[in-house]
Amino acid sequence: MIIDIHNHISLKSSPYYLPVDEYLKAMDECGVEKAVILGKDYGKLGDRQQSNLPDEETATFVKAHPDRFIGFTAAHPDRGVEQNLERIERAVNDLGLKGIKINPHAGHYPNDERLYPVFEKATELGVPVMFHTGIKAPSEGTRVKYCQPIYLDDVAVDFPDMTIIIAHAGYPWVEETILVGLYNGNVYADISTLTQIEGVMGFEVMLPTLQKLTASWGAQRVLFGSDGIFNMEETLTAVKSADFLSDSDREKILWKNAKEVLQF
Ligand SMILES: [Zn+2]
Repeated sequence: MIIDIHNHISLKSSPYYLPVDEYLKAMDECGVEKAVILGKDYGKLGDRQQSNLPDEETATFVKAHPDRFIGFTAAHPDRGVEQNLERIERAVNDLGLKGIKINPHAGHYPNDERLYPVFEKATELGVPVMFHTGIKAPSEGTRVKYCQPIYLDDVAVDFPDMTIIIAHAGYPWVEETILVGLYNGNVYADISTLTQIEGVMGFEVMLPTLQKLTASWGAQRVLFGSDGIFNMEETLTAVKSADFLSDSDREKILWKNAKEVLQF
């Protein structure tokens, strides 16, 4: 089995929108059984750009193929406590979504205390929270200073029973990710998009990052994620070709750890 912990859909109104069948085709070709579709709330910035993803669109994918897709909702400090909590409760209890995505590059630090009620709710519901970290998504108005993983130490310490996923392993701040995870057993990292950085920057990122993470943490908190169906095959090839991983490490990274995080 292979589980992709980090995937996205585009808004139905967007020119980049791909129907569910395109996802299934790519997943089948790569042998990926399940993919997590992440929520997106960039707060007021996203409202202006009309880029926020309503949970209903995520739920459409999950409802069409509940055995293949797992959906996450999203939260942003701009919404205020009440609206964030209402959204999360509805997403988890009514729409069957199973986690929360936070996008700090859209204007706040990951340890922003306005999100603490969200983290309390996540702990209560037993759902994981993924934070975008590292390189910023290429959208206008986002800021890379909010993407350092070190701020997640506060969140991990204050919410020891909440599962935290550091997306993109915090690259290029991988040492910060490692440090935060060394002291906090509730911290995981996904390796999504690292092959893409390799392509853009013209040097190797994925394998050294994977090696550093597994050498420091072991393989049990490292998660396979693609960041999109177009990166799926390349990311899988990287994991499969990493000669420093044992077969048991590879199993953990490709699905066993994700199964634990997603609790199914
Ligand atoms: Zn992503």
